[in-house]
Amino acid sequence: MAIKDEQRPLHILFLPYLAPGHLIPIADMAALFAARGVKCSILTTPVNAATIRSAVDRANDASRGTEGTQAIDIVVVPFPDVGLPPGVECGPALNSEADRETFSHAMRLLRDPFDRFMSENRPDAVVSDSFFDWSVDAAAEHGVPRLTFLGISVFARACGDTTLRNNPIEAAAEHPDALVLLPGLPHRVELRRSQMMEPKKQPEQWTFFQRVNAADQRSFGEVFNSFHELEPDYLKHHTTTLGRRAWLVGPVALASKDVATRGGANDGLSPDADGCLRWLDVKPAGSVVYVSFGTMAIFSQPELRELACGLDLSGKNFVWVIGGAVTKQELEWMPDGFAEQMARGERGLIVRGWAPQMLILNHPAVGGFVTHCGWNSTLEAISAGVPMVTWPRFADQFYNEKQVVEHLKVGVSVGSTEYASRLEARRVIGGEVIAEAIGRVMGHGEEGAAIRKRAKELGEKARRAVEKGGSSYDDVGRLMDELMARRSSVTA
Ligand code: UDP
Repeated sequence: MAIKDEQRPLHILFLPYLAPGHLIPIADMAALFAARGVKCSILTTPVNAATIRSAVDRANDASRGTEGTQAIDIVVVPFPDVGLPPGVECGPALNSEADRETFSHAMRLLRDPFDRFMSENRPDAVVSDSFFDWSVDAAAEHGVPRLTFLGISVFARACGDTTLRNNPIEAAAEHPDALVLLPGLPHRVELRRSQMMEPKKQPEQWTFFQRVNAADQRSFGEVFNSFHELEPDYLKHHTTTLGRRAWLVGPVALASKDVATRGGANDGLSPDADGCLRWLDVKPAGSVVYVSFGTMAIFSQPELRELACGLDLSGKNFVWVIGGAVTKQELEWMPDGFAEQMARGERGLIVRGWAPQMLILNHPAVGGFVTHCGWNSTLEAISAGVPMVTWPRFADQFYNEKQVVEHLKVGVSVGSTEYASRLEARRVIGGEVIAEAIGRVMGHGEEGAAIRKRAKELGEKARRAVEKGGSSYDDVGRLMDELMARRSSVTA
């Protein structure tokens, strides 16, 4: 007997962009929906499937046998043959402008497997990364609503939207320090000219983001890895002023109750992970600064050297995540005595490869986070109640710094001033400046105490948002009801 339409679980296809910072929150979000009874499929390519495989397996294991849950399926499709070397399938693996362009071409070719999946499976909705701007028309051709997701905050979305529509940089003085006011926002938001994307210098990127923004405006709505209590004014701006629809379902990293086992991209957790956690266990509460810059940022050797000096000067204990193995070059940038200090492991620890970030941030010994302000890392720190030292580089990171330092007041900036792509060189920030910022966040002064108190309060709000009856929990339900009602009206 056929299952009646209203008994059939909702089915959502997730189409994440091929970079860990986009894939990880999508896998977490799928876990949230699956736990509420939504059948979830994630379409991606082999290397990227490996990034989220363990998270998905864990979510499926946790829900097996629990009534009202559904499984998450990773639909693995070949990476389009565009001439990139085998295995080069995701953002961090692209090390030249030429590769980036070829990669963008491959992103458009994913439309073929997307269309096939849609025809064969007819899901109820698509949650597509904004970067797949083609998916707005493709989903419409299949008669399926496209929800967009870019893995940014509602605040950053508002900043990006007004920048793309009004191009405020054009009227600003030519000087890199000229302040540029972003018009039409609920608060006065100003950035230095040098902290923004220059349409004239990066015309391809500018046109791409305009196309992406336009496609997002034509979408059914947007899902955000955020929560109502974090940015209520910007949610109102998004819905009332911009007239767009939004569901805030985060922090999605809290989807996995067992944060202990979250993480592990590609090759799995770093072999240093266990040792790092044991090391943290014996450190006093709030005494350790955690340093990690996500999966895309590249720091030059002089920058790394100053950072090492800054950590040393700060007098704090530290855990510093550095990808890859020790190289000969590395020994060149390390200040005198630093390698020996690391070997003793008293003050500091270097983690090679993939760190269990959620576990580290939630460890009581951790009292501060030096971050590049990727939105996932930022929200993970917020949800763990950990204050930040902010060091943005590109993309939405300067907006995130504004939000953290000026609006939420849970961080201190190191004074990064250059928006530059990951491969470009930039001004080196001195070790004493880094040490001072760490001291302001983690030190004994009144400023640090107030920052830490606010961070803690925000962390509690974040956790409440995802619990039953919390705002994010309710937004998941609201979206499900709407998609179900839409299915009934289409099939009626
Ligand atoms: N991450 C992790 N361990 C690492 C490095 C990164 O778990 O060693 C996770 C981190 O917790 C976050 C994501 O990778 O969820 C990075 O995303 P973010 O938006 O912060 O930065 P991006 O890599 O996109 O620049």
